Amino acid sequence: MNFLSTRGGKKVTGAQAVVKGLSENGGLYVPEVFPAFTLDDLEDMLPLNYPERAARIISSFLDEYPAEELKDALVKAYSKFEGDDPAPLVRIDDGVYILELFHGPTCAFKDMALTVLPYLLRKGCDICGIKEEILILVATSGDTGKAALEGFKDADGVKIMVFYPNEGVSKMQKLQMCTQEGSNVNVVAVKGNFDDCQTAVKEIFASEQKAEELLKRGVRLSSANSINFGRLVPQVAYYFSAYLDLVSSGQIELGEEIDFTVPTGNFGNILAGYYAKRMGLPVRRLHCASNLNKVLTDFLSTGVYDIRREFYKTTSPSMDILVSSNLERLLFEISGRDEKLTAERMKELKENGIYSITKQELEKINEVFDGGFATEDESVEAMFGVFEDTGYTMDTHTGCAMKVALDWFEKNRKDETKMVIVATANPYKFPQDVLYAVTGNDVKDSFKGIKRLHAATAMEVPKSLLTLRDKPVRFTKVVSSRSLFDEVLEFLG
Ligand SMILES: *Cc1c(COP(=O)(O)O)cnc(C)c1O
Repeated sequence: MNFLSTRGGKKVTGAQAVVKGLSENGGLYVPEVFPAFTLDDLEDMLPLNYPERAARIISSFLDEYPAEELKDALVKAYSKFEGDDPAPLVRIDDGVYILELFHGPTCAFKDMALTVLPYLLRKGCDICGIKEEILILVATSGDTGKAALEGFKDADGVKIMVFYPNEGVSKMQKLQMCTQEGSNVNVVAVKGNFDDCQTAVKEIFASEQKAEELLKRGVRLSSANSINFGRLVPQVAYYFSAYLDLVSSGQIELGEEIDFTVPTGNFGNILAGYYAKRMGLPVRRLHCASNLNKVLTDFLSTGVYDIRREFYKTTSPSMDILVSSNLERLLFEISGRDEKLTAERMKELKENGIYSITKQELEKINEVFDGGFATEDESVEAMFGVFEDTGYTMDTHTGCAMKVALDWFEKNRKDETKMVIVATANPYKFPQDVLYAVTGNDVKDSFKGIKRLHAATAMEVPKSLLTLRDKPVRFTKVVSSRSLFDEVLEFLG
């Protein structure tokens, strides 16, 4: 299958889309068509395990990758997860389920894709005949960085460099990144917030001159951010798998439509749900959940995307984002794949911090999407309420989604559509905030938080978090967002 850029230009193959990450004009790669899955196809997938289901989905887009080899790579990637099922579904109430995507090596849903991306990229380079060393640059709001570092550490022919906003990630996230092992990794803190960090990294990708300078050194840039199609496509799989699990366990009939509520930052996770729907998965609505940085909530109700507003640092840092990059892919679809219009809107956003879509486009989006948000108090309330009623403990990001789902139930009491709430991080990744939500207790230290949270919930503590305390800190550098490229050159030596 070929891929188009949302801002126009040459078509590329799937392998090229994965290797390049972003098109030369800054556009994102999207599939030329959405592969179609019929109910019969879904029925065929019922007996398959997670990696086998994922292989079907990924192969349907990336058809140049050898199917058996891809499946083996997926088996290997998901063997790094705790338990037999990398994406278990937990029923917490009648018709309400939590899709737990945090059982991977770094305890966040980013592992679902970032354990797979190294294979997609390495194989993609082989397919494209690329001989240069690959340099992965990542801007992270916290979880992507660690998951990418873990995925790519010590990979052959690849170096990885992660930039995170110095004041914008949790202590646990920072510790996870700064203690990263591996001979091919580098981690740098950037002054400013995530948007500053992401914009600076995107500028490196967009600069032909910088690309040439790197090529002269035998290095080719690639991206592990969710703008890379190789990040997006493994995520489509868990929407299918959750649906199939509901059918297998007799909770729904094959063909019955369900809803998902998704905690959203860069719009990558929820966009994968939209792709699943476009491929024929019976999804009725997608509820987009934000925290106080509710640009998306406002956009989904007014059709105006306006980032000229205060930026809040919240207890759900991976959603502290104003520029949701993957929304561009939705805009492209909704505009009738109008590349000129999409490019114009992105230009307006960059220059003026605002753009709007037409009333007709908004109506089309609202046929599938609606948005809501949680204040800090509201997410705590939702986390506490569910813990008290059901004993289920969730992290702060999932808490925002829970609030939005509860609002939906409140407003649509007669609606019997089953709801899957996507859980994106292990609660122990944000131990102090989760402890506060479920017990009202404040502790100053993350590891004390883990201990107390364990005492309060009896939930198992992931080993990868427990051992962090004793690991040496390897990376301490803090730089201005203007000097990222200098850092890159220094790292390459
Ligand atoms: C990345 C992340 C999100 C947001 O996902 P997007 O794909 O950026 O919308 C939500 N929760 C957690 C824990 C995350 O790590």
